Amino acid sequence: MKFIDTHAHLQFDSYDKDREEVISRAFAKGIKTIINVGIDEVTSRKAIELAHNHSNLYAAAGWHPHDAESYDEKILLELLTDKSVVALGEIGLDYYRNLSPKDVQKKVFQAQLKIAAEKNMPTIIHDRNAHEDVFNMIKKYNPERVVFHCFSGDYNFARDVLEQGWFISFTGSVTFDKGHYFGTIRDVPDDRYFVETDAPFLTPYPYRGKRNRPEYVEYIIQNIAEIKGKSPNEIARQTTENAENFFSLHKKLD
Ligand SMILES: [Zn+2]
Repeated sequence: MKFIDTHAHLQFDSYDKDREEVISRAFAKGIKTIINVGIDEVTSRKAIELAHNHSNLYAAAGWHPHDAESYDEKILLELLTDKSVVALGEIGLDYYRNLSPKDVQKKVFQAQLKIAAEKNMPTIIHDRNAHEDVFNMIKKYNPERVVFHCFSGDYNFARDVLEQGWFISFTGSVTFDKGHYFGTIRDVPDDRYFVETDAPFLTPYPYRGKRNRPEYVEYIIQNIAEIKGKSPNEIARQTTENAENFFSLHKKLD
């Protein structure tokens, strides 16, 4: 079984002591590709550096709502020209922790959505307790390819998102919040979703409480397979294909 972790943060400090070991073990355990996602300038640059040093690692560059106050458009535009950058993200709104003022979050989110639309970049969305504003702002700027990373909405919100042609990405939270995700997983069309760890966060059951690792996407895939009544192999194959298409990874792998 080969699978893709479409959203990890292996550039974060929590991997400083054993990053290379974590990466090589992930590949040994069946991971084909990892996309490391930035949340500000430093973490986007580190994700790019990792991608340059490893084949099959890619990067996303962007300013997370928590880091909205340090947003620098010139630097973002420069980062997006790097060949290892396959997406703009993660960007969005977070009204749960509100670590940046709401008006700054909104301004920075919209500035980045505009760039995503202009540059035709796949866009990774962070949405925490901000479904309505996030939805309306994406609609306004309308980038071509949008994924709700770590999808947290309810069944009706999932339907609204899918209706717009956007994608859904599932984390380990589907393994410990099963009831919330059941209907969404059951009904999400086969070609409209993929999987991610969001490592080091959101470690799936049975490793919940420990630091996350890319190869643990296997537990997310198992969970989806059970709900959809398919084999884990089939879910791995489908989510890999979906992610490769969404991020145009086949082009970069040539
Ligand atoms: Zn993340």
